[in-house]
Amino acid sequence: MTKFSDLNLNPKVLKAVAEAGYESPTPIQAGAIPPALEGKDVLGIAQTGTGKTASFTLPMISLLARGRARARMPRSLVLCPTRELAAQVAENFDAYTKHLKLTKALLIGGVSFKEQEAIIDKGVDVLIATPGRLLDHFERGKLILSDVKVMVVDEADRMLDMGFIPDIERIFGLTPFTRQTLFFSATMAPEIERITNTFLSAPVRIEVARQATASENITQGVVMFKASRRDREGSEKRKVLRELIKQEGDACTNAIIFCNRKTDVDITAKSMKKYGLDAAPIHGDLDQSHRTKTLDAFRSGELRFLVASDVAARGLDIPDVSHVFNFDVPSHAEDYVHRIGRTGRAGKSGKTVMICVPRDEKNFAAIEALIQKEIPRIENPVTPSKPKKAKAEDTDTKPEKKVEKKAESAAPQQDKKDTAKRDNKQPNRDKPSGRSRSRGRGNDRGHGNDVVGMGDHLPSFIALSFDERRAS
Ligand code: AMP
Repeated sequence: MTKFSDLNLNPKVLKAVAEAGYESPTPIQAGAIPPALEGKDVLGIAQTGTGKTASFTLPMISLLARGRARARMPRSLVLCPTRELAAQVAENFDAYTKHLKLTKALLIGGVSFKEQEAIIDKGVDVLIATPGRLLDHFERGKLILSDVKVMVVDEADRMLDMGFIPDIERIFGLTPFTRQTLFFSATMAPEIERITNTFLSAPVRIEVARQATASENITQGVVMFKASRRDREGSEKRKVLRELIKQEGDACTNAIIFCNRKTDVDITAKSMKKYGLDAAPIHGDLDQSHRTKTLDAFRSGELRFLVASDVAARGLDIPDVSHVFNFDVPSHAEDYVHRIGRTGRAGKSGKTVMICVPRDEKNFAAIEALIQKEIPRIENPVTPSKPKKAKAEDTDTKPEKKVEKKAESAAPQQDKKDTAKRDNKQPNRDKPSGRSRSRGRGNDRGHGNDVVGMGDHLPSFIALSFDERRAS
């Protein structure tokens, strides 16, 4: 078996690695570090959880230890699709450079340009950035990329999903032709293949096993669930989720709950909180300081449940997550693998349960095909409630029920806002949408939040005769 000491890393980097407690390199590290140290381009096909961050940071640091930073001209560049991922790479750099004097700048949105410019002005060895923010700095004339000797593109397939490929191509064009490129992607979509063919020069290709085949220590399960009525699906699914959590008892020390849409991330977190579960949301529309605070609280164990969207959670390295709940079946099968990969890390066991509604069955079949395994069906933990005359929705207490309703009625409105604008504000979910719908749920025309569609709920006074009403 390869040892770190066989890899030709700088001795001070080796010392930091030993202090991190790593005994031997992971396959992606053993494959990528030697060619990277020789100055070759590397194409790493690996997912998060495989140790890929160290597979590019360790050789980069060893190479950088030989030179010196110049003002406004970073010597290396790491591009990440999300702020969280960039912050995580920065943390890795800090850990592995603790015995060296190397400087870094983290260029991500949500932090003031001034602060970041002051650091760049002094000269940095490593620039870790999201593509948009890096280009903003470049356009302000504060950054020169012509001294970049090593450039890393991390999670390229997520960059593709997020529409960053034109930015990446532009950034490649701003760096010297002679640079060394280390390029990582979990999958090789045709567009990614094209980029690597264009910008990498005779790369050494290292592919490590998919996480799906490696995650034998994760117990999986799925609840096939059909709502009593389509308009009750959201609230009934939330109830199933609560019961699933309850069933796990103390074994569920902490969990990530994944939703497909940002709007459901908010609604689910809010609803869980109302039911006494310690939950907070994280998605791309929340401002940076809020996201950082939430993540820190989750990492430290202060927060028990993190409700997340795929983008926000992608690549997050949170050790010790006991459970992952898929509130929705992800529409890309590969996202399932990423999601469940948050648990069962570093040899620990983990558990994951997904809720699948009938219209998600096609996506669910794609997941089983991808992982080449049947996911065991779990019985719905919610016992069907006895038919009721009027209120059939949630069986819980009144104030909580009100929240669920509010959240439900806000969902369509917020959906539109999610796609229409990408600012950091949260739409006011308590406001009526201003649009009336003639059928179904969410008959929220500014009459206050307690009034729901008559098909759902018949207020008892309406059932009284006119005389009875006058008398009451
Ligand atoms: P990554 O795939 O880069 O997100 O890394 C996943 C996790 O593996 C992180 O918590 C790393 O600290 C950890 N890790 C990275 N390299 C090693 C190693 N050689 N041995 C043990 N753990 C590692």
